[in-house]
Amino acid sequence: MDTYEDMVAERRVQICARMDDALSRSGRSSDDVTLVAVSKTVGTDEVVAAIRAGYRVFGENRPQELVRKMGELGDRTGLPQVRFDMIGNLQTNKINAVLGRAVLIHSIGSAHLAEAVSTRAARRIETGELQSAVDVLLEVNVSGEETKSGFAPDEVRASMEHLMELSGIRIRGLMTMAPRGDKGAARATFSGLRELRDELSSVYGIELPELSCGMSEDFDIALEEGSTIVRLGRVVFDPAFALQ
Ligand SMILES: *Cc1c(COP(=O)(O)O)cnc(C)c1O
Repeated sequence: MDTYEDMVAERRVQICARMDDALSRSGRSSDDVTLVAVSKTVGTDEVVAAIRAGYRVFGENRPQELVRKMGELGDRTGLPQVRFDMIGNLQTNKINAVLGRAVLIHSIGSAHLAEAVSTRAARRIETGELQSAVDVLLEVNVSGEETKSGFAPDEVRASMEHLMELSGIRIRGLMTMAPRGDKGAARATFSGLRELRDELSSVYGIELPELSCGMSEDFDIALEEGSTIVRLGRVVFDPAFALQ
């Protein structure tokens, strides 16, 4: 019987091979891409298994979980340094918990949230608690599904100039989630994100190098369409998930 740790390690080899295939189809290399292991459904022991398997970047969608897991990992000795990103809905009263901990916030989905993060970060920069502006991505609802959060594409276009003036944040790119179970719609969502990035980048003269898109069911499509950050949960951690 394989242990959980063996499963995670074997999966990682398969995932990396799939990523390499998709990247070579789009003329890129794995150096261009960050794999975020989304640990929201597992505990710290499973995260440790993933670290031993070679993962170095983790994503959480709840601030309390991010704080808890980082704390528990800090108590364990002999582990390499890892990074945590915030990938989920962030309420303004939880921003302070995430600042100084999450390296990248993927889920800035409104001007209100961008302002709130920027204000708090700017205050901490002033007091010397924070070295520099927080790296963020703007979450865009490219597919237009009502259940999805994030800026509508037209809202980003309208807000970009204002967002760029916020001194506590540094906008590194865009993030999206594709509709489930429809590969064609997923591809259109990812290419739409890339086109929007290209447009904003040229209109506002700002580099937006990161495109955070692609999850367990659609990461190869996302990589073919230019994704630079994939966020993988079930395929990394769930033994029952079938990697097709
Ligand atoms: C849960 C989650 C993921 C990972 O989803 P999987 O389908 O399990 O790979 C990625 N991004 C966000 C924002 C999530 O909440």
